[in-house]
Amino acid sequence: MLKVNDNYLKLKAGYLFPEIARRVNTFCSEHPDVDLIRLGIGDVTEPLPSACRDAMKAAIDEMGTHAGFHGYGPEQGYPWLREAIAKFDYHLRGCDISAEEIFVSDGSKCDSSNILDILGPKNRIAVTDPVYPVYVDSNVMAGRTGEVEDSGCYEGLSYIAINEANNFEAQIPKESLDLIYLCFPNNPTGAVATKSKLAAWVDYALKNDALILFDAAYEAFIQDNDIPHSIFEIEGSRQCAIEFRSFSKNAGFTGTRCAFTVIPKTLKGRTQDGKSIDLWSLWNRRQSTKFNGVSYIVQRGAEAVYSNEGQSQVKSLVNFYMENANLIRTELIKAGLTSYGGENAPYVWIKTPDGLDSWSFFDLLLDKANIVGTPGSGFGVAGEGYFRLSAFNSRKNVEKAMKRIANL
Ligand SMILES: *Cc1c(COP(=O)(O)O)cnc(C)c1O
Repeated sequence: MLKVNDNYLKLKAGYLFPEIARRVNTFCSEHPDVDLIRLGIGDVTEPLPSACRDAMKAAIDEMGTHAGFHGYGPEQGYPWLREAIAKFDYHLRGCDISAEEIFVSDGSKCDSSNILDILGPKNRIAVTDPVYPVYVDSNVMAGRTGEVEDSGCYEGLSYIAINEANNFEAQIPKESLDLIYLCFPNNPTGAVATKSKLAAWVDYALKNDALILFDAAYEAFIQDNDIPHSIFEIEGSRQCAIEFRSFSKNAGFTGTRCAFTVIPKTLKGRTQDGKSIDLWSLWNRRQSTKFNGVSYIVQRGAEAVYSNEGQSQVKSLVNFYMENANLIRTELIKAGLTSYGGENAPYVWIKTPDGLDSWSFFDLLLDKANIVGTPGSGFGVAGEGYFRLSAFNSRKNVEKAMKRIANL
């Protein structure tokens, strides 16, 4: 008899977004004429920049000629894209990252879960709480955790709470851990990590022979000049960190699909028998075997992000969403709601009023303002009592939503 991967059965049932959909559908069928505003989804809404579209159109035409046709490309990505990334995202910020250390992919969601392929089964793993659910669920699926406990936490996983009490800063653990997931600017809280905080994490990782998986999907939204955009701005990080980056949120590539992972060649791990081995080679082997690269057309589109035109178009997109975020943040505060984030990230993290739990606040907003947001508790136990609103929407919808909240 065929056996399945039982680890999948450990995943918490009634996962966040299906439950949101269920409640929204029920509400809409009871109120068929309702004008619902969705501020819950972490997906962009503005069209693709013309620089990227033009580059992709030209690439399609090239593909229609014998001279310009491209079949399988390098599994690691085309050298011209890796060079552009190395120059613009790293060298210009003073980071020592070479094109060879950049692996182009079709998404950070897959990279941040696929990375477990090259890591052993016995690592002590930590995530922040609340957290981007992919980090937790991919570990559950890979059998790197135990069962879910009554609290909603998984056995064998360490949770680092980020909340009001610690100013949404991930505190350095007292115990020794091997693998730490950090995402800054943070989804869902919109919090950022200062240079000194990241330096403390790098210091911790070096002392404990640990690996930091740094998700910088929202780096383009950083407004403060002294907040690092990359973990590789921190000295020593080449010995202890992998970084995930994506074109999804800055250039609106959520449906186009292009991202990259940076693995310094100086990054080492240990084999079962204690030998030191570099992670770059393992990931290169993994990608060469299991991945066949991102389409030529899409990589040309991503390359165009680094053209003068592309840079200014991406800046306009980011500014547009950040104006939304600013509007949401200031209007919520005016309405008397305690709110965080939204200053260097496209998410605003609301403390639910009157001690309501996250789902009660969800129902209240849905019922009284016809606004859909995301309950903080869906991102982890420490997210209970919070609520996420996303700045990814039209200005009209954001303004309308804020007016409704002001009138509540
Ligand atoms: C949106 C997002 C990403 C990007 O994922 P892609 O697969 O590249 O679209 C990565 N990490 C976080 C935390 C995100 O919210």
